[in-house]
Formats: sequence, structure tokens, C-alpha cells
Amino acid sequence: MGGQSEGMSEKVQRVRWGWGLGLRLVVAVGGVMVGGCAGVGENAPLKGVAMPREVTFWQPWLLYTHRAPYRALHVEVDCVEGTEPEGAWLDQVKRFLETQCDKPGGVTVRLDDRIGRGEAAESSSAALALRHIDGPPGGEAFMYVLYYDSGLNRKLKAANPQAIAFPYPCAVFVDRAYNQKGFGDNVGGEVLLHEIGHLVGTARSFNHGDGAHCRKKNCIMNEAFEYHPQRKWVSGKFTPQQEFCEDCLLDLERWRAQVPAAGLRFDGPLLVRREVGYQVYALPHAIHLHAGPAATVKREEVLAFLRAAALGRGGPVDGVTVSGSAVGPEEEVAVGLAAAAMDPAGPVKSAAAALDRQIRKQKAASVPAAGVIPGLIPASPPS
Ligand SMILES: [Zn+2]
Ligand SMILES: [Zn+2]
Repeated sequence: MGGQSEGMSEKVQRVRWGWGLGLRLVVAVGGVMVGGCAGVGENAPLKGVAMPREVTFWQPWLLYTHRAPYRALHVEVDCVEGTEPEGAWLDQVKRFLETQCDKPGGVTVRLDDRIGRGEAAESSSAALALRHIDGPPGGEAFMYVLYYDSGLNRKLKAANPQAIAFPYPCAVFVDRAYNQKGFGDNVGGEVLLHEIGHLVGTARSFNHGDGAHCRKKNCIMNEAFEYHPQRKWVSGKFTPQQEFCEDCLLDLERWRAQVPAAGLRFDGPLLVRREVGYQVYALPHAIHLHAGPAATVKREEVLAFLRAAALGRGGPVDGVTVSGSAVGPEEEVAVGLAAAAMDPAGPVKSAAAALDRQIRKQKAASVPAAGVIPGLIPASPPS
């Protein structure tokens, strides 16, 4: 904050707030199961739609597949002690991304934090991610992977491995408690590759899948893995699904040639979508709406908002936590909020409405006077 907002104080309204809200819009496109798929999160009202419009309209996967604006890709892997992924799984993912994403600056897959089991016993997976996600060291495109164990926390249910489609289509969560018949250990590499495949946009074409999963039985992007715990001695593998099929690879070829939207960028770990008059910042399971010019808010402030809102009540277990802020000339903020109220993403609309209510409430509470009410809203002369 500092000098900038002070210097602008006569024209600026600064409203700071945050609240936690389970919006029931988590659409986890994961669905790697032994003989079945839970492709869509259980709370999702979008059942039957593999990839919601909230995600497809901005095509965030192009940030990974295209060489611009990011020439390099950084994958951060955090894990709870005892849930460490095998090095071979990470190597396999690195090779896949190097081959299928146009990143001449290279792909880094880095095993980062080892999270204590005590912390994991008290936290949801979303809370762990929000606390430990760091972002890329430089200006790379960014993916986040979390390995955890729902068995450590009595409040959690075992979850199938999943790529988070919304609001942060840049993260994979793998619950190592999901290990029926050794599934998670034996095909851990294939599982991780499948989830990363979601992030980079495989099986998006409806000619060979449902927009998220591939119809081909032997493709690694099929909604279920054919799993043979007893077959390793025959083929050396627990599943025949080792490769992306030709059609899935064609999807990637298409995405490599397509330039991502100009308003879509990473800022540290944040995925930022800049619209006219407002910006949407996303982390795993959390969204922040900022109304007003982009330059009026900093990455650290947004991160603080998101973490405060999402972690304030013990952390989100399900759903999307939303927070909001507004800084700028009053009319600009109003225009931004009106535009955000028509955003394609439901939680952004809700955030716009809530932020608007908050601003009105503060205005009503403030005493009109000449000058500025410190920290709140510029007093407009009574008309
Ligand atoms: Zn899947
Ligand atoms: Zn396929």
C-alpha cells in the first residue's frame, strides 16, 4: 500500500474486506478410479459437463502449451511427510511437458516443501495448498502439485486424484490415502501424468472425448484406468494405459499453435485474468475480485486477502472461497463492478454483488463531509 494510495487519497476509495463462502462450484476433473470415474466434484451443479464454461471460455491451458508469453514452465510439488511421490513419476511428467509444451526455456519440476504431519492432521488439502504454494522463481508459467494423505485428518474423506479445473486450472491434488489395492502406489506415475494431461488441455476435443476425458480405452486420458494388480510380472506394468492416444496428442498440437488470451497471466502463483475495470485472481479453491485499475493492487496484498479469507475459518474443505477489494476513482470502481457482475464465472458475479453491497453499506455509514474519511471512502458533497 504505502505512498501510492496516500497520494491518491482524495480521489480514491479503498474498501478492504474478505469473507469465506463455499460456493459449491468446485469442478474437479480427476476421476482416476479403479474401474469407474468421478469426473466431476460431488457438489458440482454442473454434473454431466466434463469441463465447465467457467474454464473453457478463457482457455488457460494455452499458457502451458504455447511458447508465448512464457518461454519456460515451472512445476512446484509440495508433499506431506510420508506421501512423497517417486522421482520416476516426476521425471515422467517433466519429459511429457518438455515434449508436448512449446517451452524452449525448459521445464522444471521441483520437489519443494515437505509439510509436517502435525499440520496435515489439522488442515484440509486446500488449506495446505494455500499456505505452501510459492509460485515460480522467475517469470515462468506455473503448475502446482500437492501430495497429501486424507487419512491423517479425521475430518477429511479420501478423495480420488484430481486436477482442479476451477477456479485455478493449474493445480493437481493427489491423496495418497486413495490407494485401494495398491492403486496409488502402483500406477502413481500414470495417475500424475493423467492429471497433468488435464491441465495442458488433452481430450478437450469432443470428437474423441467428453471435453475432459478421452473415449479411447487404452489412452491414459480415459476416465478410468484398467488396473491389473497381478499382471506386473507379465508386462512390467500394472495398466495398459501408458500413452496419450493420437487424438489427445493432436489436441496438444493444436494448442501449441494457439496464442493465449492477452489478459491472462501468472503473477507469482496467482493466475490473473484482467478484464476491463476489474481483475480476477485465482489460487487453489480461492478467488479474489479486485475492482478498479490493476495497478492499484499488489500481488502481496491479493495473496494476503486470499489467504485471510480462505484460512480464516479453519480453511476451505470444499467449494470456492471468495474475497474482494476495490481501489480507484468511484466511477471507475462502479463500472468495474457492473462489468464483473456479468462475468462468465459464477463466483465472480457473487463477489461483485457482495463487494457492491459492502461499498454501499460503508457509504451509508459514512458522514458526508468535505475531505476524506481516512481509510474508507471519499466523502462526496451532499447533492
Ligand atoms: Zn481425469
Ligand atoms: Zn486420448
